[in-house]
Amino acid sequence: MGGDDCTACEMAGNICIPEQTTTPPKASMTVPARPQKRCSAETGRVREETPTKRPKLAIRKAKVEAQRAPPGNTTTIFTKLCHPIVFNDETAACNFCDGSSMAMLGLEQTAVEVIDWENGRGLKEVSGGHKANGHTSTRVCTICTMQRIPIIMCPKHRLRPIPGTASRSLDTDGALTALFAGRIRKKDRWCSICPALATYECETAQEDTGAFERPGRGCGLQLCETCMPSLAGVYKGDLQAMLGELTDEFSDERPLGLRADFELLKQDGLLTRYILWASEQ
Ligand SMILES: [Zn+2]
Ligand SMILES: [Zn+2]
Ligand SMILES: [Zn+2]
Ligand SMILES: [Zn+2]
Repeated sequence: MGGDDCTACEMAGNICIPEQTTTPPKASMTVPARPQKRCSAETGRVREETPTKRPKLAIRKAKVEAQRAPPGNTTTIFTKLCHPIVFNDETAACNFCDGSSMAMLGLEQTAVEVIDWENGRGLKEVSGGHKANGHTSTRVCTICTMQRIPIIMCPKHRLRPIPGTASRSLDTDGALTALFAGRIRKKDRWCSICPALATYECETAQEDTGAFERPGRGCGLQLCETCMPSLAGVYKGDLQAMLGELTDEFSDERPLGLRADFELLKQDGLLTRYILWASEQ
């Protein structure tokens, strides 16, 4: 991720002031001061008591916790997105489906001081963030917002090879070249967690709300050759546990780290918080 390359600014025609990268690409966004029950996983994977029917319960829990978040508290997070993120954006300026690499590579990872905004709706940048560097809020259109909900709510991810990706070899080089040029190709299907091509997808049938089209009938979760065995093996299919433990850093397994938007798939993440907030308006 060259510091001189800022797709968002190019697309928006902004003047881009390159951000400093003094911060190590470590644990990105953490939700602000709030009881972090699941994070006790750090101290040795205790998650036996995790209920099987977790989505709805967890959503409710996230809701309660979001409401309890102490107002006016500032926290420092590491993020590749510009806050407050605008969800269900209808200005046709979505940063996630405009073919750019924003959802995957995002902006430079930056330490941002944020404040809880409007009853847990989201985070507002206070200082030192992408806003200060001339960026505008990351915009996520209604389709891009709603498409992620079934992944968050999926009762159990069952993964199968994506038809057509097993037999012929994927054009990984071409895909990555396009990604770094900020021109994602329509034909490439990307892992939901890291910037790599997906070869597996969840096939768990979803309640058909008819609202939004998704590729296949599954929840929309797509995983690469690294993330699939990790989810299925290490995390026994528990995506939330996986998202809670992964940190956005470069590794042999994931040379590009994690996607800029991976935290939006968390049950207590900003997208869920937005949905809960919006449903009460
Ligand atoms: Zn920029
Ligand atoms: Zn979009
Ligand atoms: Zn699923
Ligand atoms: Zn992956």
